[in-house]
Amino acid sequence: MRERVIVCEVGPRDGLQMAKSRMATGTKQAWIAAMAQAGVPEIEVGSFVSPKVIPQMSDTDVVVRDAVLVPGLRVVALAPNLRGAQAAYEAGAHRVTIPVSVSEGHSRANLNRTPAEQVAEVGRVVEWVRAQARPMEVEAACSTAFGCSFDGVVADEAVLKVAAGLASAGVDMVALADTVGYAQPAQIRRIVGAVRREIGDVLEGLHLHDTMGLGLANALAGLDCGIRSFDAALAGLGGCPFAPGASGNIVTEDLVFMLESMGFDTGINLDQLIDCRRFLAEGLPAEARHGHVAQAGIPKTYRAQQGLGGGVR
Ligand code: ZN
Repeated sequence: MRERVIVCEVGPRDGLQMAKSRMATGTKQAWIAAMAQAGVPEIEVGSFVSPKVIPQMSDTDVVVRDAVLVPGLRVVALAPNLRGAQAAYEAGAHRVTIPVSVSEGHSRANLNRTPAEQVAEVGRVVEWVRAQARPMEVEAACSTAFGCSFDGVVADEAVLKVAAGLASAGVDMVALADTVGYAQPAQIRRIVGAVRREIGDVLEGLHLHDTMGLGLANALAGLDCGIRSFDAALAGLGGCPFAPGASGNIVTEDLVFMLESMGFDTGINLDQLIDCRRFLAEGLPAEARHGHVAQAGIPKTYRAQQGLGGGVR
């Protein structure tokens, strides 16, 4: 039995919010269905934010309602507040993820709240969700946990304080997010270790960006610390508003290649996953598509893993 690692595809949310043009709803739906077909177990399909702020997300309600019909797929939606979480619940999302910036500057710019105010908002979401008939997981993602484009260095103590606040608010899971992609592996080890000591297994996931090319190195550091859930975006779609030309999240195809090659089980068929890039080529032709494995091709050594009981299905 190989150990399972969850890969959550966030391209339809994190990737698209940076895109210059809008992806048609039908293309988005077909892309999500194809990734689920390739074995991707969780997809963050959109965010319930004002369409005035992010026009790309104006069809999130329709996309969530459609995605929950895809067999076996866990559908995640981002919401910045209680109102958004209520919309996610009404649409049938399996999980809502709420961003909580650790740094004051990012919190003000992104949410117009202090970190403490946003932790309190998460508490209101948990309270509301627990009173509903249908269960929905509540995840809180600590944005800018490893550095901030406004405030620079983020103190470890600030991360611990926010994570502890979220755990006592009763969230199902906490993720640490390197929102701008400034983290390095030693820092990942240090902060993941410290947060684990503070809130235990409630710390579940890492959300990494590849701005500085350290995305997979950071994922490996997280893996070494026991993290078994990672966000990633197909073709590294997206970018960083503070680093023009940078890729977005870590590349799903490359992450799957690394994990499967190391003997972990992602449940994802890499050939099929790479094929999903055609939806980006069609739906967002102007966007850069990143990724080493897609460019180089899956090596024969990877295919050999199948014969060893590892690799693709
Ligand atoms: Zn992100």
